[in-house]
Amino acid sequence: MKNVLSCIQPTGDLHLGNYFGAVQNWVRLQENYQCTYGVVDYHSMTMPYKAETLRENTWKMVFYLLACGIKPENLFIQSLVPEHAELSWVLSCLTSYGELSRMTQFKDKSKQLEEKSGQDVFVGAGLFVYPVLQAADILIYHADYVPIGKDQQQHLELSRDIAQRFNHQFGKEYFIHPEPLFTETPKILSPADPNKKMSKSLGEKHYINLFGEEDRIRKQIKSAVTDTGETKAGEMSPGVQNLFELLRACGHMAAFQSLMADYHAGTLKYSDLKEEVANSVAGLVNPLRERLSTLQADKRNVKAQIQESSAEIRKRAQQTMREVRELTGLASLK
Ligand code: ADP
Repeated sequence: MKNVLSCIQPTGDLHLGNYFGAVQNWVRLQENYQCTYGVVDYHSMTMPYKAETLRENTWKMVFYLLACGIKPENLFIQSLVPEHAELSWVLSCLTSYGELSRMTQFKDKSKQLEEKSGQDVFVGAGLFVYPVLQAADILIYHADYVPIGKDQQQHLELSRDIAQRFNHQFGKEYFIHPEPLFTETPKILSPADPNKKMSKSLGEKHYINLFGEEDRIRKQIKSAVTDTGETKAGEMSPGVQNLFELLRACGHMAAFQSLMADYHAGTLKYSDLKEEVANSVAGLVNPLRERLSTLQADKRNVKAQIQESSAEIRKRAQQTMREVRELTGLASLK
């Protein structure tokens, strides 16, 4: 079986965009690939954060992913595999300043920081070298495929370039060149402003929390913006498209088709569409929430299981580091 690697930052809540755009796909990939999924807490240190929230969010994300159907043996916490940081150092010496300066995410995120903090802006070097750590995450497990969205394409290309440079410098085809795995996943929009992607960074009303209260989820869907006033005649507005997209993502195709027919006939009532979407999302989320409570009731054991799976996965990373040390001329204990 081919290896798949993907990671998610522990940034707090998991929203419907994260679920339909990433996690649901991860769960499915487990059927056909050897999957390794990381909760990447080192990465979350690149933006301002608090120590206690980082640890809390890391475990929160682990529980969310398990509740969504990620198998515990496939899941690890990045900082429990410190070899990621070690390989990242080695690879950073093979990455140029110019390459990192061209990364659009660095430009976007440093701008975000500047906008928030003005004159006192502190842009850490971690944010700058973050794509190298990402390359280490991928290469350390010799991943064949990385499921990514278009926004991460540039970083994956950098990982491939770094792998190639490593192989060239040390005279061995050691690292394989990871391929992107573009799976058709929906892009979910903000219910409060459907001209934007659903995202946590925009604020609470812009995302629907997967594990939030059912009442709140229903309210957010019912008050979702359908008409932004900018849609051309005959075109479906982004807010309505988003509601249909959610129905499709929930797999309710019969309702999707019948409501779409109403839309084309000009008889669709948005309240009916919203009711159907709210029921579909609730139907999807409720079993996940039940699984989450079961896991939380057994917190200690679940945590121990993930510490163990991280230790198991670490063995693969340690093997890579032994070989990398050998190839790069670092000292060895033998
Ligand atoms: P956020 O900061 O909003 O939680 P991230 O940028 O951390 O989102 O993304 C985590 C994963 O979720 C990525 O794989 C990303 O492509 C996916 N994702 C995030 N937002 C959406 C969205 N609105 N629609 C589809 N996929 C999304």
